[in-house]
Amino acid sequence: KGVLYIVPTPIGNLQDMTFRAVDTLRTVHFIAAEDTRQTKKLLNHFDIHTPLVSYHEHNKEASGEKIIAALLEGKHVALVSDAGTPTISDPGYELVKGALNVNCKVIPLPGANAAVTALTASGLPTSHFYFYGFLPRHKKEKKKELEQLKHIKDTLIFYEAPHRLQETLAIMHHVFGNRKMVVARELTKRFEQFIRGTIEEVMHWAEHHEIRGEFCLLIEGNHVTLNDESVWWDHLTIVEHVNYY
Ligand code: SAM
Repeated sequence: KGVLYIVPTPIGNLQDMTFRAVDTLRTVHFIAAEDTRQTKKLLNHFDIHTPLVSYHEHNKEASGEKIIAALLEGKHVALVSDAGTPTISDPGYELVKGALNVNCKVIPLPGANAAVTALTASGLPTSHFYFYGFLPRHKKEKKKELEQLKHIKDTLIFYEAPHRLQETLAIMHHVFGNRKMVVARELTKRFEQFIRGTIEEVMHWAEHHEIRGEFCLLIEGNHVTLNDESVWWDHLTIVEHVNYY
């Protein structure tokens, strides 16, 4: 039987591709990609000539069946998404389940992931964290989900789209109160930014800046400050990192 490899790809900086990822993408029979055109660019950059098939949110059933059939025929397959680690706020979970279900091996490669990258430099406690990913789009459901999270003591991590930032911050402020938080923007890219403050301060910042690019939101857990002094900042700070690649 074939093996399904879960292969992370960079979240902005091509240098974050691992040697093992390149090697794996070169040697599998084919690559299942969320967006084949996007992945084609990555393959060109690393001089990889492996055939691509499409596997995304809207064809995952039909495409998944074909991929499982190929695994059963002994073909090795690599799964990639547009950026970062497949299956993490990206397609792939059903494919992993399907492959395990027919007793194929699923081998994960470590690599780029926005949430963990943001957490490590956020300055918020890292010993326990709760990764949520994308909140529901609609206001009511968003609020309901946040209500469920408000008692959690661990650092909370969310993904959010730029045009929803302001509304999401307002709801977070309403549900969580004025906790400390971090916006990690454009991680690994040329102009990476960490914005640390309270939810109110970040709301104020967001009102006065054009919100562009990709970012993660990290919110301090409930009561973290009672006996933990690790949330150390007491005013808004905006730090820009210039990453070369
Ligand atoms: N699978 C990816 C991972 O492992 O991080 C996540 C994919 S999800 C569809 C895309 C979201 O991840 C973005 O909307 C943003 O919230 C976050 N993200 C991805 N790249 C990022 C970056 N370079 N900087 C900050 N956040 C990023």
